[in-house]
Amino acid sequence: MLKLYNSLTKQKDPFKPIKDKVVLMYDCGPTVYAKPHIGNLARYIMSDILRRYLEYKDYKVKQVMNITDVGHLTEDDLATSDRGEDKIIAQAKKEGKDPLVIARYYEKEFFKAAKKLNLKIAEAYDVEKGEIKNTEDIIIARATDHINDMIKVIKDLVEKGYAYETSKGVYFNVSKFKDYGKLSGNTLDKLQEGKRVKVDPEKKTPYDFALWIKAPKEHLMQWDSPWGRGYPGWHIECTAMSIKYLGEQIDIHTGGEDNIFPHHEDEIAQSESYTGKSPFVKYWIHRRHFLVDSKKMAKSEGNVYTLEDLGKMGYSPEVFKLAILSGKYNSKINFSEDSLKQAKTILKKTFWDVIDSKIKNQDNSKDIIDLEKTLEDDLNTPKAIAIVNRTTSIKLLKTADKILGTNFSEPISTTMPTSIKKLADERHKARKNKDFVKSDKLRKEIEKKGFEIEDTNSGYRVKRK
Ligand SMILES: [Zn+2]
Repeated sequence: MLKLYNSLTKQKDPFKPIKDKVVLMYDCGPTVYAKPHIGNLARYIMSDILRRYLEYKDYKVKQVMNITDVGHLTEDDLATSDRGEDKIIAQAKKEGKDPLVIARYYEKEFFKAAKKLNLKIAEAYDVEKGEIKNTEDIIIARATDHINDMIKVIKDLVEKGYAYETSKGVYFNVSKFKDYGKLSGNTLDKLQEGKRVKVDPEKKTPYDFALWIKAPKEHLMQWDSPWGRGYPGWHIECTAMSIKYLGEQIDIHTGGEDNIFPHHEDEIAQSESYTGKSPFVKYWIHRRHFLVDSKKMAKSEGNVYTLEDLGKMGYSPEVFKLAILSGKYNSKINFSEDSLKQAKTILKKTFWDVIDSKIKNQDNSKDIIDLEKTLEDDLNTPKAIAIVNRTTSIKLLKTADKILGTNFSEPISTTMPTSIKKLADERHKARKNKDFVKSDKLRKEIEKKGFEIEDTNSGYRVKRK
């Protein structure tokens, strides 16, 4: 039975969905004001493997991911949630563009990266056109397309006495929700003992957070509401969309550990007050941050990498993914170029060569049972990679591909366009004839087209860069 570390209960819980074989899953999506960095991406790799594992175990997974294109303020990570500037607008000013142009551009960048990493969520997005194309079981939802859904929830919270209006906006009254703090441990008492926040005299407690923010005329993104022109706070979008598409109570909600407070704590407060049902989410699954070169990832440290940066260093998205899977999603790991080098070696020297020379289509079912057991234990991917690494079974590689979203087992010919195959064959011939000038030239041509060629014992192997 699958066991997952649940941030709500602080233990590994056996997984049992609300509705028998259907899993309702919500992923806190990206705030689209910058290219996704490797820390962001690692968190979506975690959701992807969780989804794939559940599907492998014959669950039907219905997954929703939001796109935050309004309302996430630069200081929203603070408890009060009404400080700073909208992240999208700040970036728009920096680039001298319209906020929605910025949002759509970085949204596309996110899905480009998701596609390169073979994440299922990318199936619901057309990267060429930059359009959402939702499927039956994957829904991408932009905040700006759901303003009315959010207003509906806020109105109800005001009517029920959980929220109130001030001259600045509409706030959730934290003291009205007795379970506040149950996810993060930040109860009202604890918050009051701790760091002081700037007190707004109109607020009932200093930690009340904004559901709706009233906007001055010149504010770039604003909508009509019962409280005048304005825009939503960040947390309310996830409540509105999760309830709209998945219902009042769901099985899984994922995010990065930085989302636990205030974002997810506030989502729980809003949702459970709105529906009167608890729990809003049965399993809260969070990706732990990793260090990069033993330091916290930060612009000032110069260690915030994108997939493109890694590409320039000679590491493909596939290598990055393998490096990430080599650490457990919720353990403290240090990510460095050594992790990438190691992953590259495993990928090239082990998998590719194994497939080409050693694998004899053995059906090693013991290994498959081991793989399942390992992943059932809170998605222990490092152990799973170790099993894959030592296997001689093509069946196991195929199973691993299915669950991990990798392509360890794919034969060359099925992943390669014919034009590339032609070049690769020509190069192979040139090499055999010891015409290394020609073979080098052809290699460069292949690389220019976005592929990488590797010589193996039995011939060659081509992969997307
Ligand atoms: Zn969220």
